Amino acid sequence: MSFKQAKWNEPLIFERSKPGKIGFMLPEITKEEEAAGDIIKAIPKSLLRENPPELPEVSEVEVVRHYIRLSQQNYGVDLGIYPLGSCTMKYTPKITDVVINTHKLRDLHPYQDEELTQGILQILYELSNYFAEILGMDKVSLQPAAGAHGEYVGVMIMRAYHALNGELDKRTDIIVPDSAHGTNPANTAMAGFKTVVVPSAEDGTVDLKALKAVVGEHTAGFMLTNPNTLGVFERNVMEIAEIIHDAGGLVYYDGANLNAILCKARPGDMGFDIAHINTHKTFSTPHGGGGPGAGPVGVKKELEKFLPVPTVEFDGKKYYLDYNKPYSIGKVRGFYGNIAVLVRAYAYLLLMGAEGLERVAELSVLNANYVIRKVLKAKGYTLPYKPENLRKHEGVVSAKQMMDETGVRALNVSKRLLDLGVHAPTNYFPLIVPEALMIEPTETESKESLDELINAFTRVSEEAYSNPKVVLDAPVNTTVDMVDDVKASHPKTMRLSWRMIKKYGEAK
Ligand SMILES: *Cc1c(COP(=O)(O)O)cnc(C)c1O
Repeated sequence: MSFKQAKWNEPLIFERSKPGKIGFMLPEITKEEEAAGDIIKAIPKSLLRENPPELPEVSEVEVVRHYIRLSQQNYGVDLGIYPLGSCTMKYTPKITDVVINTHKLRDLHPYQDEELTQGILQILYELSNYFAEILGMDKVSLQPAAGAHGEYVGVMIMRAYHALNGELDKRTDIIVPDSAHGTNPANTAMAGFKTVVVPSAEDGTVDLKALKAVVGEHTAGFMLTNPNTLGVFERNVMEIAEIIHDAGGLVYYDGANLNAILCKARPGDMGFDIAHINTHKTFSTPHGGGGPGAGPVGVKKELEKFLPVPTVEFDGKKYYLDYNKPYSIGKVRGFYGNIAVLVRAYAYLLLMGAEGLERVAELSVLNANYVIRKVLKAKGYTLPYKPENLRKHEGVVSAKQMMDETGVRALNVSKRLLDLGVHAPTNYFPLIVPEALMIEPTETESKESLDELINAFTRVSEEAYSNPKVVLDAPVNTTVDMVDDVKASHPKTMRLSWRMIKKYGEAK
């Protein structure tokens, strides 16, 4: 295994800029465009920009080289394995890019008349029906822009439901397990509820006794990921749903990572009332750096009336947008959702079919368990919460033993993995596993690339026990070496754009 990432002394594109350099040619102005120029004259002065926008002035060659150099200093799922647990970095088939880049879709405008947008409305209508079928729900809204946004919509639906029943005052609590994704408690708080945390039992599933102790009249709902973030299937899910329903609460399914159960099991059949999915994790649309994405939300019949507006409907002849929903929680996003991502998910679903999706579930589980079993053979890695039980699409290995015996922490393991040319797993999540390495290889990896990942983990363990300094000094083969996490995220020191540098000066 030998790997060394490119390291260019590449300035910002604004630093490359020289007045007068041009990297493009515009077509001649047509008569129609000239006429349109008169319209600009009609715009009130106060609304017009005074100075031209600040854009870099560079030639085409400079632009191309600049971005190719930057891309060589990056790592992505098109370059190698990316086993980022809970984030699901699976390969996105390039055909989905071809589909969304056809001019019929690309040149659409949301203000076009419904008669002229029947095609996209049909796609959205069919896509929401596919998702409803996959989730076992009755109706799906495609509006939310991300998983966290889907959760917010779900929790707001819980609010609307209890408010309509006249019980919002007393239903103050939303229960989440201690293995929950951070967005769950964040959204319950944002929607004005109190978060009540229940601990996990010995096998990593919700502790039923502890759950029963906190459920009552004040319970508004419960949020659960299944398989949970440990990669363990919540076997008692039906009983959990019953406990919450008996108390008058609603049960929410965090389906950000649906890979393990696609076409095998459905949240709707497990007793959930509301569920969201992440197209950018399960349905192979690209993501990274916080976006873009889509977090469609599905609900059971009784909750349909609360969904955000507009919903896409079909009257047997034409597709249309329905804004007439008096009980709706309202509008949550501009227009109809993140179309570019949703159309990719639609293309992916048509490409895979139900059989293909079932195969995704099988392979994602097989790949995860193959990697975890092999990684555990190396010294210093353990699998908390009943290691003898299989995991689903991901598993959380601990490097605590390695840390105690060699001083090498999970963070160091991850940095050394980068040196070996594979991406690191998710670190230090879920919080209930010390020195967590959360591994999710996904179904799109071959046995050969899984073996590369396993070899990298094994080699890091051997180095930790023979020459820990190599691991502690990592990374050395990457463009950027050890990042100062505090400086990189502190408002006083972080510089995220050229404008920030101009305003605050270089990062120190
Ligand atoms: C990723 C994830 C989320 C949040 O999704 P975003 O699209 O990143 O907002 C929520 N829950 C779980 C379990 C996740 O893995």
